[in-house]
Amino acid sequence: MTQYDIAIVGGGAAGLMAAARCVGSALNVILVEKNRECGKKILITGKGRCNITNISPWREFQSHIHPDKGFVKNAFHHFSNTDVVNFIESTGLQCKEERGNRIFPVTDRSHDVRDHIVKYINKGGVKISCGTEVTSITKSDDKYVINMVAPGGDDISVLASKVILTTGGLSYPTTGSTGDGYTFAKAFGHTVVDTFPSLTALKPKEIDPRLEGLLLKNIKMDLWVNGSVVQSEFGETLFTSGGIEGALGFRVSRKGVKGLINGQKVELSIDLKPAVEEDDVKVRVGELVKEMGGFKIKKILPKLMPLQMVESFAEMNPDLREGNLAARIKDWRFRIVGYVGYERCVITAGGVSLDEISRKTMESKLSSGLYFAGEVMDLDGDTGGYNLQIAFSTGALAADSAIKSLAI
Ligand SMILES: Cc1cc2nc3c(=O)[nH]c(=O)nc-3n(C[C@H](O)[C@H](O)[C@H](O)COP(=O)(O)OP(=O)(O)OC[C@H]3O[C@@H](n4cnc5c(N)ncnc54)[C@H](O)[C@@H]3O)c2cc1C
Repeated sequence: MTQYDIAIVGGGAAGLMAAARCVGSALNVILVEKNRECGKKILITGKGRCNITNISPWREFQSHIHPDKGFVKNAFHHFSNTDVVNFIESTGLQCKEERGNRIFPVTDRSHDVRDHIVKYINKGGVKISCGTEVTSITKSDDKYVINMVAPGGDDISVLASKVILTTGGLSYPTTGSTGDGYTFAKAFGHTVVDTFPSLTALKPKEIDPRLEGLLLKNIKMDLWVNGSVVQSEFGETLFTSGGIEGALGFRVSRKGVKGLINGQKVELSIDLKPAVEEDDVKVRVGELVKEMGGFKIKKILPKLMPLQMVESFAEMNPDLREGNLAARIKDWRFRIVGYVGYERCVITAGGVSLDEISRKTMESKLSSGLYFAGEVMDLDGDTGGYNLQIAFSTGALAADSAIKSLAI
């Protein structure tokens, strides 16, 4: 059996960064990826532009990590957002900053991010074995046995002193993230915290096709669970065939999905005029009524909201009159009854329990020499570059810890 010092299982963002950190270590390292190419998910990030990271300082960055920001602190400081930018630029790909401290490649092509990292690893002599699916991992004495199916279909096994598990979660399974890592982790006694889709579209009771494509900017969105507001956000939201998504829809989806799973009543309220008090909207409505010579909905609503939503808004509020229009504009309410699942969500919430992983090294507390990084763990971030940074930081820390312990 071929022996390696380190085997990295999964060639996504976390696995690739772990492999990149092994460059120059003089260790015998293999990265095993079941797809015929690495980083298939990187290719679809940022709508094909790859929002590589978010350059906010840690005190701001941490507020976008769930469920345990403290777990990531050490990894973030070990290999920070500026370290990621410096690394990507050192491979010859310049980065640029956009609104909200988001970092993208100047080329606006996620392919370039993936290709530059893979090229760096290949040049550095770390072996990448694509089209190779790991089927199980066991431990014999102090070595890990990694059983896999090679590209030709043959069953093969290799030995490794250290294993870094970077198999991702369950979102967009077509990219290779099919939850295999949970099974591997459980075999070593790890607990997998219940998973659920996050950063996903919330489905209202009735989806009106006329709203599809409607982008509402500068609105406030409140998420209601069992009659109480649990989250309020400002920004923009998008209506699609899947439901309510866009920046705000995604941001509230974590708590929304969790509420639905727990059998709670989930509602979304959109305030179309968050900068204006309800009384001032009432005054404006009064002025329009005077101007139009009566409460003529078809003429008044287009003055207060995008034309695309007028009919739908009127139908959803059949009792509209001068006295309640302002209140409805400040609280356009949707009963949420479902959500888009793993097939099209951005991130998997839940995963391998953080209680059983050292935050200082990313090593398993249950099986020495086994490390975790990226989405396979019970960690997820908001949209804005936080998730790739979590994968890069934890991937780098896991690899550096494994390298360090081999040097002792
Ligand atoms: C549509 C979309 C857009 C996104 N956009 C952004 C963005 O712009 N910015 C951002 O920060 N985050 C974004 N994310 C989230 C981000 O892509 C992920 O959080 C991140 O890629 C997770 O990296 P990972 O390495 O942990 O897992 P993955 O990228 O899922 O990689 C896991 C790898 O392991 C391989 N694998 C799994 N099982 C096996 C096995 N048994 N044997 C061998 N290999 C295996 C898989 O094939 C896969 O390549 C986006 C996600 C989606 C779905």
